Amino acid sequence: MKAAVWDGSGPTLTIEDIPRPEPKRGEILLKVTACGVCHTDLHVLKSEVKFPAPAVLGHEVSGVVEHIGEGVDNVAIGDRVVCSFIMPCGDCRHCVRGLEDLCEKFFAHNRLNGTLYDGESRLARHDGTPLAMYSMGGLAEYCVVPASDAFKVPDGVGLGEVSILGCSSFTALGAVHNADLELGDRIAVIAAGGVGSSIVQFAVAAGVSQIIAIDVNDDKLKAVAALGATHTINSRDTDAVAAVKALTDGHGVDVAFEALGNPHTFATAMDILDDGGRAVVVGIAPAGSTGQIDLARLVRRKLEIHGSYGAKARSDMPALLRMVSAGIVEPEHIITRRYTLDQVDEAYQALARGEIVGRAIIEMEATP
Ligand SMILES: [Zn+2]
Ligand SMILES: [Zn+2]
Repeated sequence: MKAAVWDGSGPTLTIEDIPRPEPKRGEILLKVTACGVCHTDLHVLKSEVKFPAPAVLGHEVSGVVEHIGEGVDNVAIGDRVVCSFIMPCGDCRHCVRGLEDLCEKFFAHNRLNGTLYDGESRLARHDGTPLAMYSMGGLAEYCVVPASDAFKVPDGVGLGEVSILGCSSFTALGAVHNADLELGDRIAVIAAGGVGSSIVQFAVAAGVSQIIAIDVNDDKLKAVAALGATHTINSRDTDAVAAVKALTDGHGVDVAFEALGNPHTFATAMDILDDGGRAVVVGIAPAGSTGQIDLARLVRRKLEIHGSYGAKARSDMPALLRMVSAGIVEPEHIITRRYTLDQVDEAYQALARGEIVGRAIIEMEATP
């Protein structure tokens, strides 16, 4: 099969022919329909997030179940499914208390070593060289996923477009849950990319009264305004803190989502909070980044800072699919570019240049 391989030497991907993987017990083989183009992959490509090489990245997939391993009974061959990037093991101490977004085996095996939970990757080159898997390694024609991370897509819902539920919508839903939004809250979303766009959609659904989107790209701001952002601020030419204060009677917002992962935008998120406000930090900052906090203000103004990596796959993915069926979440309105697998490197270069509004996806079937 064809797969996009990162050899670790630089921020580029190369299409290679590698053996089709085999699912083990409790796993499925997915014929990938689409895989989202995510900033987190880019962080790995640029070596800003440590990950072993050579590797197959891609962690936002949908597809058709091609084959099932022993003991799989929640999906069958031919089912159309979507998978989340956090693939919960289901039995670690966090999973058993419902905190699948902290799954220990996922972080210890997959995020550190690029393997599944028996300590082995399912991917290798023809010469036997193992290829690390970032989540399921979805930038390929086929991938192996734990069956606990496969969620059936309802009839009538497009399979390609729901791929982005697995990371950008999933991450956004986790962030909104962690924000404890209340009806009438005022919020700001810093960085209007894939995750930021989804946060805006959820905030509209949650009855937030004011949604202020902040970015440096006017096209992205225009796109999130169409999704329901009530105000937009281009922080390249405007002082974002002063502008947010001006839009909120001088108070600031109840919740600031930081979806970039940058010390400067983290500072902005803290500076635009109203008293008692919550900063929800969602963006993945390069390893070693630190943010500064005014400690006296944190205490006196009772501010909160929540880290939020993802959502809880087994309850939140079905919820996301229900929201898509109901028209509350419209992934097709967030996807603005579609590439073939052969164009994968071009897609990530465009992402690196900040050109992608909303989300781009790689469509495997479209590969000539
Ligand atoms: Zn992602
Ligand atoms: Zn777990």
